[in-house]
Amino acid sequence: MALDKNWFTELCEEGGSAFSMKLVKKLHEEKTPYQHIEIYQTEFFGNLMAIDGFVMLTERDNFIYHEMISHPALFCHPAPRKVVVIGGGDCGTLQEVLKHEEVLEAWQVEIDERVTRLAEAYFPALCQANNDSRANFFFGDGIKWMEEAEPESIDLIIVDSTDPIGPAEGLFSEPFYRNCQRALTQNGLVVQQSESPLFHLDILTGMRDAMRAAGFNNLMSLQFPQCTYPSGWWTATLAGKDINLKSFREDAAANRPFKTSFYNVEMHRAAMALPQFMKEAFKISD
Ligand code: SAM
Repeated sequence: MALDKNWFTELCEEGGSAFSMKLVKKLHEEKTPYQHIEIYQTEFFGNLMAIDGFVMLTERDNFIYHEMISHPALFCHPAPRKVVVIGGGDCGTLQEVLKHEEVLEAWQVEIDERVTRLAEAYFPALCQANNDSRANFFFGDGIKWMEEAEPESIDLIIVDSTDPIGPAEGLFSEPFYRNCQRALTQNGLVVQQSESPLFHLDILTGMRDAMRAAGFNNLMSLQFPQCTYPSGWWTATLAGKDINLKSFREDAAANRPFKTSFYNVEMHRAAMALPQFMKEAFKISD
Protein backbone atom coordinates (compact mmCIF):
# COMPACT_ATOMS: atom_id res chain seq x y z
CA MET A 1 0.00 0.00 0.00
CA ALA A 2 1.36 3.45 -0.84
CA LEU A 3 0.54 5.78 2.09
CA ASP A 4 3.31 7.95 0.71
CA LYS A 5 4.65 7.37 -2.79
CA ASN A 6 8.22 7.12 -1.46
CA TRP A 7 7.34 4.27 0.91
CA PHE A 8 5.85 0.79 0.59
CA THR A 9 3.65 0.06 3.60
CA GLU A 10 2.11 -3.29 4.50
CA LEU A 11 -0.79 -2.86 6.89
CA CYS A 12 -1.37 -5.70 9.33
CA GLU A 13 -4.94 -5.19 10.54
CA GLU A 14 -4.93 -8.18 12.91
CA GLY A 15 -1.73 -6.94 14.57
CA GLY A 16 -2.81 -3.27 14.60
CA SER A 17 0.51 -2.35 13.05
CA ALA A 18 2.33 -1.67 9.80
CA PHE A 19 5.79 -2.07 8.31
CA SER A 20 7.25 0.33 5.74
CA MET A 21 10.28 0.35 3.48
CA LYS A 22 11.67 3.43 1.75
CA LEU A 23 11.48 3.13 -2.03
CA VAL A 24 13.75 4.16 -4.83
CA LYS A 25 11.20 3.31 -7.55
CA LYS A 26 8.54 0.91 -8.76
CA LEU A 27 10.04 -1.68 -11.11
CA HIS A 28 6.94 -3.61 -12.15
CA GLU A 29 3.23 -4.11 -11.41
CA GLU A 30 0.72 -6.54 -12.88
CA LYS A 31 -2.54 -8.31 -12.14
CA THR A 32 -2.38 -12.03 -12.97
CA PRO A 33 -5.43 -14.35 -12.96
CA TYR A 34 -4.46 -15.19 -9.37
CA GLN A 35 -3.09 -12.09 -7.70
CA HIS A 36 -1.66 -8.57 -7.87
CA ILE A 37 2.14 -8.57 -8.03
CA GLU A 38 4.28 -5.48 -7.34
CA ILE A 39 8.06 -5.20 -7.50
CA TYR A 40 9.97 -2.24 -6.08
CA GLN A 41 13.56 -1.19 -5.68
CA THR A 42 13.95 -0.12 -2.04
CA GLU A 43 16.67 1.98 -0.48
CA PHE A 44 17.86 -0.52 2.14
CA PHE A 45 16.24 -3.89 1.43
CA GLY A 46 17.17 -4.34 -2.23
CA ASN A 47 14.33 -5.45 -4.50
CA LEU A 48 10.99 -6.20 -2.89
CA MET A 49 8.16 -8.42 -4.19
CA ALA A 50 4.67 -7.95 -2.78
CA ILE A 51 1.59 -10.03 -3.62
CA ASP A 52 -1.83 -8.53 -2.91
CA GLY A 53 -0.10 -5.88 -0.78
CA PHE A 54 1.77 -8.40 1.42
CA VAL A 55 5.56 -8.60 1.47
CA MET A 56 6.72 -11.90 -0.08
CA LEU A 57 10.43 -11.27 0.01
CA THR A 58 13.20 -8.74 -0.10
CA GLU A 59 16.73 -9.26 -1.35
CA ARG A 60 18.09 -8.27 2.04
CA ASP A 61 16.36 -10.68 4.43
CA ASN A 62 14.93 -13.58 2.36
CA PHE A 63 17.91 -15.76 3.29
CA ILE A 64 16.57 -16.28 6.82
CA TYR A 65 13.17 -17.56 5.69
CA HIS A 66 14.48 -19.64 2.78
CA GLU A 67 17.16 -21.33 4.86
CA MET A 68 14.89 -21.99 7.84
CA ILE A 69 12.03 -23.42 5.80
CA SER A 70 14.37 -25.85 4.06
CA HIS A 71 17.54 -26.92 5.92
CA PRO A 72 16.05 -27.99 9.31
CA ALA A 73 13.55 -30.28 7.54
CA LEU A 74 16.19 -31.61 5.11
CA PHE A 75 18.58 -32.44 7.96
CA CYS A 76 15.72 -34.05 9.98
CA HIS A 77 15.09 -36.56 7.20
CA PRO A 78 17.60 -39.47 7.17
CA ALA A 79 17.97 -39.44 3.36
CA PRO A 80 15.82 -36.93 1.43
CA ARG A 81 15.76 -38.01 -2.23
CA LYS A 82 12.57 -36.47 -3.60
CA VAL A 83 11.45 -33.02 -2.42
CA VAL A 84 8.38 -31.04 -3.51
CA VAL A 85 7.96 -27.31 -2.89
CA ILE A 86 4.34 -26.14 -3.01
CA GLY A 87 4.21 -22.43 -3.89
CA GLY A 88 7.69 -20.91 -3.55
CA GLY A 89 7.48 -19.30 -7.00
CA ASP A 90 10.42 -16.99 -6.28
CA CYS A 91 12.65 -20.13 -6.46
CA GLY A 92 14.58 -19.26 -3.26
CA THR A 93 13.45 -22.40 -1.43
CA LEU A 94 14.16 -24.61 -4.44
CA GLN A 95 17.70 -23.21 -4.56
CA GLU A 96 18.31 -24.10 -0.89
CA VAL A 97 16.89 -27.62 -1.43
CA LEU A 98 19.22 -28.24 -4.36
CA LYS A 99 22.26 -27.41 -2.20
CA HIS A 100 21.73 -30.91 -0.72
CA GLU A 101 23.58 -33.38 -2.94
CA GLU A 102 21.50 -36.32 -1.70
CA VAL A 103 18.37 -34.76 -3.22
CA LEU A 104 17.92 -36.48 -6.58
CA GLU A 105 14.67 -34.84 -7.71
CA ALA A 106 13.04 -31.56 -6.69
CA TRP A 107 9.74 -30.10 -7.86
CA GLN A 108 8.39 -26.58 -7.55
CA VAL A 109 4.58 -26.60 -7.84
CA GLU A 110 3.56 -22.95 -8.16
CA ILE A 111 0.08 -21.78 -9.15
CA ASP A 112 1.22 -18.55 -10.80
CA GLU A 113 3.95 -18.83 -13.43
CA ARG A 114 4.31 -15.02 -13.49
CA VAL A 115 5.84 -15.09 -9.98
CA THR A 116 8.66 -17.30 -11.27
CA ARG A 117 9.18 -15.29 -14.47
CA LEU A 118 9.38 -12.06 -12.46
CA ALA A 119 11.75 -13.65 -9.95
CA GLU A 120 14.03 -14.61 -12.85
CA ALA A 121 14.01 -10.98 -14.01
CA TYR A 122 14.21 -9.14 -10.67
CA PHE A 123 15.67 -11.71 -8.20
CA PRO A 124 18.22 -13.58 -10.35
CA ALA A 125 20.30 -14.54 -7.29
CA LEU A 126 17.44 -16.78 -6.14
CA CYS A 127 17.07 -18.51 -9.50
CA GLN A 128 20.61 -19.80 -9.95
CA ALA A 129 19.61 -23.44 -9.48
CA ASN A 130 16.70 -23.30 -11.95
CA ASN A 131 18.75 -25.01 -14.64
CA ASP A 132 19.95 -27.77 -12.30
CA SER A 133 19.11 -31.11 -13.96
CA ARG A 134 17.30 -32.21 -10.74
CA ALA A 135 14.91 -29.19 -10.83
CA ASN A 136 11.39 -29.66 -12.20
CA PHE A 137 8.67 -27.04 -12.54
CA PHE A 138 4.91 -27.47 -12.62
CA PHE A 139 2.67 -24.44 -12.87
CA GLY A 140 -0.72 -25.25 -11.35
CA ASP A 141 -2.61 -25.62 -8.11
CA GLY A 142 -0.61 -27.39 -5.39
CA ILE A 143 -3.80 -28.63 -3.70
CA LYS A 144 -4.89 -30.52 -6.79
CA TRP A 145 -1.32 -31.67 -7.52
CA MET A 146 -1.12 -33.26 -4.07
CA GLU A 147 -4.52 -34.98 -4.54
CA GLU A 148 -3.05 -36.74 -7.56
CA ALA A 149 0.46 -37.47 -6.20
CA GLU A 150 1.61 -41.12 -6.15
CA PRO A 151 1.25 -42.70 -2.68
CA GLU A 152 4.51 -42.98 -0.68
CA SER A 153 6.51 -41.19 -3.37
CA ILE A 154 7.84 -38.01 -1.67
CA ASP A 155 10.34 -37.66 1.19
CA LEU A 156 9.79 -33.98 1.99
CA ILE A 157 6.99 -31.54 1.14
CA ILE A 158 7.78 -27.85 1.73
CA VAL A 159 4.72 -25.58 1.70
CA ASP A 160 6.10 -22.12 0.90
CA SER A 161 2.82 -20.36 0.28
CA THR A 162 1.12 -17.03 0.69
CA ASP A 163 -1.09 -16.44 3.75
CA PRO A 164 -4.18 -18.67 4.19
CA ILE A 165 -6.44 -16.59 1.96
CA GLY A 166 -7.29 -16.87 -1.75
CA PRO A 167 -5.63 -19.75 -3.61
CA ALA A 168 -3.52 -20.69 -0.55
CA GLU A 169 -6.45 -21.17 1.86
CA GLY A 170 -6.81 -24.90 1.16
CA LEU A 171 -3.09 -25.45 1.80
CA PHE A 172 -3.81 -24.95 5.52
CA SER A 173 -6.59 -27.56 5.70
CA GLU A 174 -6.97 -31.13 6.94
CA PRO A 175 -7.88 -32.58 3.49
CA PHE A 176 -4.63 -31.17 2.06
CA TYR A 177 -2.60 -32.60 4.95
CA ARG A 178 -4.29 -35.99 4.43
CA ASN A 179 -3.13 -35.97 0.82
CA CYS A 180 0.39 -35.02 1.96
CA GLN A 181 0.32 -37.88 4.48
CA ARG A 182 -0.63 -40.31 1.71
CA ALA A 183 2.04 -39.00 -0.69
CA LEU A 184 4.88 -39.16 1.85
CA THR A 185 7.27 -42.08 2.31
CA GLN A 186 7.44 -43.73 5.77
CA ASN A 187 10.12 -41.34 7.11
CA GLY A 188 8.57 -38.43 5.25
CA LEU A 189 7.66 -35.01 6.57
CA VAL A 190 5.95 -31.76 5.65
CA VAL A 191 7.23 -28.34 6.59
CA GLN A 192 5.03 -25.30 6.13
CA GLN A 193 5.40 -21.60 6.76
CA SER A 194 3.10 -21.01 9.75
CA GLU A 195 2.87 -17.24 10.20
CA SER A 196 3.70 -15.04 13.20
CA PRO A 197 3.60 -16.59 16.69
CA LEU A 198 2.69 -13.19 18.10
CA PHE A 199 -0.05 -12.10 15.68
CA HIS A 200 -1.32 -15.41 14.25
CA LEU A 201 -1.18 -17.93 17.08
CA ASP A 202 -4.76 -18.98 16.20
CA ILE A 203 -3.69 -19.87 12.64
CA LEU A 204 -0.64 -21.72 13.96
CA THR A 205 -2.58 -23.79 16.52
CA GLY A 206 -5.32 -24.44 13.92
CA MET A 207 -2.70 -25.75 11.49
CA ARG A 208 -1.20 -28.02 14.12
CA ASP A 209 -4.66 -29.37 15.03
CA ALA A 210 -5.43 -30.03 11.34
CA MET A 211 -2.05 -31.76 10.84
CA ARG A 212 -2.68 -33.97 13.86
CA ALA A 213 -6.23 -34.75 12.68
CA ALA A 214 -4.75 -35.79 9.32
CA GLY A 215 -2.61 -38.40 11.09
CA PHE A 216 0.70 -36.61 11.73
CA ASN A 217 1.66 -37.61 15.27
CA ASN A 218 4.95 -35.72 15.37
CA LEU A 219 4.86 -31.93 15.20
CA MET A 220 7.55 -29.32 15.70
CA SER A 221 7.21 -25.57 15.24
CA LEU A 222 10.42 -23.61 14.64
CA GLN A 223 10.68 -19.89 15.35
CA PHE A 224 13.06 -17.38 13.81
CA PRO A 225 13.26 -13.65 13.06
CA GLN A 226 11.94 -12.24 9.78
CA CYS A 227 11.99 -8.49 10.01
CA THR A 228 9.92 -7.69 6.89
CA TYR A 229 6.97 -9.95 7.88
CA PRO A 230 4.28 -8.81 10.36
CA SER A 231 5.70 -8.60 13.93
CA GLY A 232 9.20 -9.41 12.62
CA TRP A 233 8.93 -12.92 14.05
CA TRP A 234 7.95 -16.00 12.03
CA THR A 235 7.48 -19.76 12.27
CA ALA A 236 7.69 -22.92 10.20
CA THR A 237 5.91 -26.07 11.33
CA LEU A 238 7.18 -29.60 10.67
CA ALA A 239 4.79 -32.56 10.65
CA GLY A 240 6.30 -36.03 10.45
CA LYS A 241 5.01 -39.54 9.85
CA ASP A 242 7.38 -41.98 11.59
CA ILE A 243 10.22 -39.58 12.31
CA ASN A 244 11.58 -37.99 15.47
CA LEU A 245 11.69 -34.29 14.64
CA LYS A 246 13.72 -33.43 17.75
CA SER A 247 16.82 -35.11 16.35
CA PHE A 248 18.55 -34.25 13.11
CA ARG A 249 21.71 -35.25 11.24
CA GLU A 250 23.91 -32.92 13.30
CA ASP A 251 27.24 -34.09 11.82
CA ALA A 252 25.95 -33.59 8.29
CA ALA A 253 24.56 -30.17 9.24
CA ALA A 254 27.84 -29.13 10.88
CA ASN A 255 29.89 -30.33 7.88
CA ARG A 256 27.50 -29.14 5.17
CA PRO A 257 29.46 -28.64 1.94
CA PHE A 258 27.59 -25.44 1.02
CA LYS A 259 27.33 -21.90 2.28
CA THR A 260 24.50 -20.67 4.47
CA SER A 261 24.07 -17.22 5.98
CA PHE A 262 21.66 -17.99 8.85
CA TYR A 263 21.39 -21.76 9.24
CA ASN A 264 23.86 -23.67 11.38
CA VAL A 265 23.56 -26.36 14.04
CA GLU A 266 23.14 -23.81 16.84
CA MET A 267 20.40 -21.89 14.99
CA HIS A 268 18.62 -25.18 14.23
CA ARG A 269 18.62 -26.03 17.96
CA ALA A 270 17.70 -22.45 18.92
CA ALA A 271 14.72 -22.44 16.53
CA MET A 272 13.33 -25.54 18.27
CA ALA A 273 13.26 -23.77 21.68
CA LEU A 274 9.79 -22.38 22.25
CA PRO A 275 8.71 -19.52 24.49
CA GLN A 276 6.34 -20.47 27.31
CA PHE A 277 3.19 -19.01 25.68
CA MET A 278 3.75 -21.18 22.60
CA LYS A 279 4.33 -24.32 24.67
CA GLU A 280 1.09 -23.61 26.55
CA ALA A 281 -0.83 -22.99 23.30
CA PHE A 282 0.53 -26.29 21.90
CA LYS A 283 -0.10 -28.12 25.22
CA ILE A 284 3.58 -29.12 25.51
CA SER A 285 4.70 -29.73 29.11
CA ASP A 286 8.26 -29.03 30.32
N1 SAM B 1 7.83 -16.48 1.65
C1 SAM B 1 6.55 -16.01 1.32
C2 SAM B 1 5.68 -15.68 2.50
O1 SAM B 1 5.66 -16.37 3.52
O2 SAM B 1 5.00 -14.65 2.40
C3 SAM B 1 5.90 -16.87 0.33
C4 SAM B 1 6.57 -16.65 -1.00
S1 SAM B 1 6.03 -17.51 -2.40
C5 SAM B 1 6.14 -16.18 -3.55
C6 SAM B 1 4.29 -17.83 -2.19
C7 SAM B 1 3.68 -18.42 -3.46
O3 SAM B 1 2.62 -19.31 -3.13
C8 SAM B 1 3.08 -17.39 -4.41
O4 SAM B 1 3.89 -17.26 -5.53
C9 SAM B 1 1.69 -17.97 -4.75
O5 SAM B 1 1.37 -17.85 -6.14
C10 SAM B 1 1.86 -19.42 -4.32
N2 SAM B 1 0.61 -20.13 -4.06
C11 SAM B 1 -0.48 -19.70 -3.37
N3 SAM B 1 -1.45 -20.64 -3.37
C12 SAM B 1 -0.96 -21.70 -4.07
C13 SAM B 1 -1.49 -22.97 -4.43
N4 SAM B 1 -2.74 -23.35 -4.07
N5 SAM B 1 -0.72 -23.81 -5.17
C14 SAM B 1 0.53 -23.45 -5.57
N6 SAM B 1 1.08 -22.25 -5.26
C15 SAM B 1 0.34 -21.38 -4.53
